[in-house]
Amino acid sequence: LQRTFSIIKPDATERNLTGAVNAVIEGAGLRIVAQKRIHMTRQQAETFYAVHKERPFFGELVDFMTSGPVVVQVLEGDNAIARYREVMGATNPANAAEGTIRKLFAKSVGENSVHGSDAPETAAIEIAQFFSGNEIV
Ligand code: ATP
Ligand code: MG
Repeated sequence: LQRTFSIIKPDATERNLTGAVNAVIEGAGLRIVAQKRIHMTRQQAETFYAVHKERPFFGELVDFMTSGPVVVQVLEGDNAIARYREVMGATNPANAAEGTIRKLFAKSVGENSVHGSDAPETAAIEIAQFFSGNEIV
């Protein structure tokens, strides 16, 4: 059993799609073992996306992620990291497979509805940024 970190991004919360996204997550066999709705500060978003700070879209990304509420989550399941990346679909919804969250809901490469960790090391760091151990059940 593995854990991954997920964010339902502002474009999805704004359109009232939290439940619809969670239905896809649970339908894929992933269990939501922690979840909270927060409004990220710029500091939190900059820390979270620090790996992208030299990219041309960094400012836009931080603006977007702080533009409204997000739902941060911990998901658990067999191969949860790879499984959730598969369920999310490609970063750019134009390239996302049928039935994936981004194909179903994403508006653009920037406003792409969800985040999921890309490796065990980043999953651990991302989970620890938003949750303490006793919040994960
Ligand atoms: P995430 O990390 O959010 O799960 P990802 O791993 O599929 O998505 P990354 O390459 O890590 O994609 O990019 C992080 C986020 O930055 C993307 O989800 C998207 O919101 C934004 N982003 C990536 N590329 C672009 C771009 N060309 N223009 C605008 N925003 C972008
Ligand atoms: Mg990424």
